[in-house]
Amino acid sequence: MNNKMQNVRGTYDLYGEAKRKAKKVVAEGSATVEKYGFEEIETPVFEFTEVFSRNLGDTSDIVTKEMYCFEDRGGESLTLRPEGTAGVVRAFISDGMQQNLPVKLYYAGPMFRYERPQKGRQRQFTQFGVELLGVETPQADIEVIAMAYEFIEKLGLAGTVTVEINSLGDKQSRDAYREKLVAYLKENYDKLSADSKERLEKNPLRVLDSKEECDKAVISGAPLYRDSLNEASKNFFNTVLAGLDWLGIKYRVNNLLVRGLDYYSHTVFELTTDKLGAQGTVLAGGRYDGLVEQMGGGKVPGIGWACGVERLSMLLDADVSLPRPIAVIPVGEDTGGKALEIAYRLRRAGFHVDQAYGGNLKKRMIKANKANASKAIIIGSDELSAGNVTVKDLDSGEQRTIALEDLIEGLK
Ligand code: ATP
Ligand code: MG
Repeated sequence: MNNKMQNVRGTYDLYGEAKRKAKKVVAEGSATVEKYGFEEIETPVFEFTEVFSRNLGDTSDIVTKEMYCFEDRGGESLTLRPEGTAGVVRAFISDGMQQNLPVKLYYAGPMFRYERPQKGRQRQFTQFGVELLGVETPQADIEVIAMAYEFIEKLGLAGTVTVEINSLGDKQSRDAYREKLVAYLKENYDKLSADSKERLEKNPLRVLDSKEECDKAVISGAPLYRDSLNEASKNFFNTVLAGLDWLGIKYRVNNLLVRGLDYYSHTVFELTTDKLGAQGTVLAGGRYDGLVEQMGGGKVPGIGWACGVERLSMLLDADVSLPRPIAVIPVGEDTGGKALEIAYRLRRAGFHVDQAYGGNLKKRMIKANKANASKAIIIGSDELSAGNVTVKDLDSGEQRTIALEDLIEGLK
């Protein structure tokens, strides 16, 4: 067999229970955020490469090594979207949404990253996310985090997940911290991993994100972000935390949380679990006040989050079984047409109906049980000529005769 007739590494076919779980995650997400006034947007799966790699100084993992870029037949450099925010902000600017602030949008769809595949880490995966544009006050941060928490709670995962939060402060605080951190990392240069030595040159904050043991040892003694926040940034952060306290949402301040993307400021947060090994972050987000301007729009602040739908699905313990069907089983001569008609009528009345496409009574009964049918409607020729069918309860085995005209009532 042609060995190209299989999935590309890191991609999966989603069906059965796994697909139903993923669908439930997205449905709960949509229902939750719509209550907060967020409306769905669908942006293209590919964009001009510049939408994602806005400047050469962008040193995030995504931009430097994970993007699927290709040249199309017209010679344009395009990229399969690795994340949702950039595309939404591009749409916000190019579709002129800046006239009517605030703008509240949510999205769900596939993202693509060239990563090393492992449990909870795929090359095509699904994100559900939200973006709130045009609000600079901490009320936005509080509401957006509360919305994430409510969503996780609706999925029955509130007890499994921890809210971790940090503040990167404004630009002044960020610069001050960077200076202190670089000095400290330089003192410990020899102990750092090769990757972190490189990060130290390009984006030292990212060293704090490292999962390498040798780096972790250095990181544990690093200067703390909170000591570099200026008054305004401290006040902003404290207002966010007070808001969460007020709502009764428990959180843990994690001074090492910096997030992978370069465009964050002030609040950053993650919802994490210890049930997925190293891939423990199920939802992540933060404030990105500089991004719209960086992409050519106005000075519009923004905040948002995205969750990994597959990671949440893996945690989900909810019942996602399908409704049990009713099996329609023709037995006598010339009952096939009537069976078809009954099945059609029942489906249009809202019932789930299963019909085997052939076989005798015994085979069809086996199929009905396999389909987990709750009842079977058995259509025999003699009964039918008297205007009746038999309804059998497949759990109790009980059987009764019902007139065709009473069938829908009788099944309710
Ligand atoms: P990680 O630290 O796990 O690489 P990240 O910081 O790259 O995550 P984000 O860009 O913030 O992740 O994406 C938000 C969420 O999307 C993550 O918290 C995770 O749940 C999910 N996610 C990210 N990358 C992948 C992937 N390759 N496969 C599956 N889910 C992913
Ligand atoms: Mg990543």
